[in-house]
Amino acid sequence: RAEQDWTHRHDAAITRDGHRVAVAANLGDTARAKEVADAGAAGVGLLRTEFMFMARRSAPDLTEQLALYRQAFDALEGKPLLVRTLDVGGDKPLPYWPMPKEDNPFLGVRGIRLCMQKPDVLETQLRALLMAAGDKPLRIMFPMVADWSEWCWAKARFDIIQAEVQATNVQLGIMVEVPAVALNAAVFAEEVDFFSIGTNDLTQYTLAMDRGNGGLARLSDGLHPSVLRLIKMTVNAAHAKGKWVGVCGELGSDPQALPLLLGLGVDELSVSLKRVPFIKAQVRDWRLSRCRQLAEQALRAVDAPGVRRLVAAAQREPG
Ligand code: PEP
Ligand code: MG
Repeated sequence: RAEQDWTHRHDAAITRDGHRVAVAANLGDTARAKEVADAGAAGVGLLRTEFMFMARRSAPDLTEQLALYRQAFDALEGKPLLVRTLDVGGDKPLPYWPMPKEDNPFLGVRGIRLCMQKPDVLETQLRALLMAAGDKPLRIMFPMVADWSEWCWAKARFDIIQAEVQATNVQLGIMVEVPAVALNAAVFAEEVDFFSIGTNDLTQYTLAMDRGNGGLARLSDGLHPSVLRLIKMTVNAAHAKGKWVGVCGELGSDPQALPLLLGLGVDELSVSLKRVPFIKAQVRDWRLSRCRQLAEQALRAVDAPGVRRLVAAAQREPG
């Protein structure tokens, strides 16, 4: 099916046996929020706010951020906005924020670890978000959480500001992109409202393969059974507590990953804006019952090519 075919973009993403998933859009820029409804997306499933902070001489202040988030909420007309708080450090430096050089930036002070060194930056961002939201559906998540203490710290910052601003329709979650969190997801599921699985980093950290290293690109595949197993653990832990799980990494855009993510129970896929109609159409091609069988088989495969062969064979089955 042509990826360019947007004809049925407004039809629901519902499997042939009646299971509905949300397909949302990944954005790096609030200006593009006005395109979300026309692409048929359920909302924004990942706003990467670091782009608002990069390529500037200083961090955007409260007023500037408020204007940007308001622009997004106005354009979304009631659809949810899921915002990831600033995820810089390591390979994503900020010119006005001196960071010591690290030997292993992907294993260094990045994401929430970096924000803990500059609490005022996170607090300003949270304040602007909650002020802009009012009663509109806002979801906030923290990047690169690995340790319980990081969640507790970030949650405490949120609670202080929310007590002052009192936005009324907010959910708070974390990215699951470090294996430690997936392995211990039951503990986090008690407290978060949702998880969003960042398969780009989760794959990198599970397989110990740098996501930017071209020499490893062929082997570094999110359909590796070990990554799938971590996704399963995350979903099961979340659902046991009535929480929802999204996938916002590249794997969510992969047609061969799609039946497995559905079969593992993922509730939302967030993909690039231009790919939303294609992924919704893919969902409509599958039965959840078949996806569940495939996911069970995939977990027993020895490697990612084995998983891909399994899905490829299922894709050739007559409908
Ligand atoms: C991820 O790690 O999968 C993710 C969505 O975050 P980023 O690609 O921005 O690191
Ligand atoms: Mg990431």
